[in-house]
Amino acid sequence: MAVAIEEYKKLMDYCGQHQVTLVAVSKTKPMEDIQALYDLGHRDFGENYVQELVEKEEKLPKDIRWHFIGHLQSNKVKYIAPFIHLIHGVDSFKLLKEVHKQGTKNEREIDCLLQIFIATEESKFGLDEAELQEMIADPALGSLTQARVRGLMGMASFSDNKEKVATEFQGLKKLYDQLKSTTFSSDGFDTLSMGMSGDYEMAINAGSSMIRIGSMLFGARNQ
Ligand SMILES: *Cc1c(COP(=O)(O)O)cnc(C)c1O
Repeated sequence: MAVAIEEYKKLMDYCGQHQVTLVAVSKTKPMEDIQALYDLGHRDFGENYVQELVEKEEKLPKDIRWHFIGHLQSNKVKYIAPFIHLIHGVDSFKLLKEVHKQGTKNEREIDCLLQIFIATEESKFGLDEAELQEMIADPALGSLTQARVRGLMGMASFSDNKEKVATEFQGLKKLYDQLKSTTFSSDGFDTLSMGMSGDYEMAINAGSSMIRIGSMLFGARNQ
């Protein structure tokens, strides 16, 4: 399928009205598809495999803001550290420390979101409540100056039950507001990444500031 240009324009209008950032999730899709949206002025793209991201980053325009939205292994942070715009899926203290280390090496602050487990499915990654509490209680958190926690990310259950999905998003928004007024009150905690092709309207209604949209723009994926 070619890139859905009309859908893209409608979605950008919708995001503009709600002051939401659209991350176009281009994972598994060819460079030409990314270039097509780039030519319309789009700059935020999301990928979930390190190797694929690194290959695309090398070949595509340098002013693209790359978002890493997948599960990131600590030993792979170094490959994306020089250029990554935002890492959405930080789900352990170990990973955050590694981001800080690589940020230091690359002499840049790397923006991150903490991924919070909000679904009822076993397969989804993220910190649960206890892990989050443990992390924010750790005095070492404040020393990780090169890994800037900018907000939270979450994925709702894959479900037709709209009430359930809405409740999960609302719960994440509440947690985000709490952290923003307590632990991360000092600076730059301003991003709540939630919502995908199937549930972005509900996510925005619940207070999302960033949606991650793949199939609606680029068509279904085989994997
Ligand atoms: C693939 C993916 C998306 C995009 O999903 P669509 O349903 O195709 O819009 C969003 N977020 C994450 C974390 C993903 O892995």
